[in-house]
Amino acid sequence: MVKKNTKENDMKRKTKGIMTAAIALVIIGSALLPREKVESIELSIPNYKPVYDINTDIPIDISVLPENAGTGSLEYISDDDSITFSSTGISTGNKEGSYTVYVVSGDIKSDTITINVADITAREELAKAEAEREAAEKAAREAEEKASREAEEKASREAEEKASKAAASNASTDQTQKSSDNQGENTNGQENAAPADANPPDGSKNNFDTYDNAEQQNTEAAYVLNTSSKKIHHPSCRSVPKIAPENYSTSNQSVDELVNQGYSTCGICFK
Ligand SMILES: [Zn+2]
Repeated sequence: MVKKNTKENDMKRKTKGIMTAAIALVIIGSALLPREKVESIELSIPNYKPVYDINTDIPIDISVLPENAGTGSLEYISDDDSITFSSTGISTGNKEGSYTVYVVSGDIKSDTITINVADITAREELAKAEAEREAAEKAAREAEEKASREAEEKASREAEEKASKAAASNASTDQTQKSSDNQGENTNGQENAAPADANPPDGSKNNFDTYDNAEQQNTEAAYVLNTSSKKIHHPSCRSVPKIAPENYSTSNQSVDELVNQGYSTCGICFK
């Protein structure tokens, strides 16, 4: 029994010793490992960009105070599963959006960082397509404006040509009119000359004495007649220029024939 008891006591002692050693190890281990409580967490992203492309890995900096605080309790929180947040960094995933990330350890929370994710390649392609569309529209608009401007210029040019032609035509008509006017004036001049000379300023009303047109001597006819005074003249007679135009006539008939018509020869040129 004693032996047995002794043996039992040995067993108890051994167990107690192992237990003590284990506890001691835990205590020593606890003392050696840096297990201080986290007091602050600072989260930052080097070269932070306002917008990140999709499927991009973003490196992060996490600094925990105190320096020997345990980091095993850190949790990496993102408000959406589209992006992945871990101790190694952030993966932006393939969904556009604005996401927030932060780190917690117990009741200690880091600053919150916003990550804007966009499909930059798609946006660039979209922007490029938009720019191309705008350029095409601009070119079409410019072509239309050019065509319209050219049409206007053509119309204006044609109107100008038409006006110019009309003006030329009018000018030609004017000249014709002027020429006929001149003839009219000449005729009027001759017509007016007789009455003007018929009533000269000196009061004489004798056409024969006051009219003087040497041109009346230039005739191929044999005789010049005064149809009023019924006189027959040689064209060279000095009385011929003085015959009033309304009384002036020429004839190739013989003197006898004219005499038979009531004419008599001039006393000056038939001497
Ligand atoms: Zn005569």
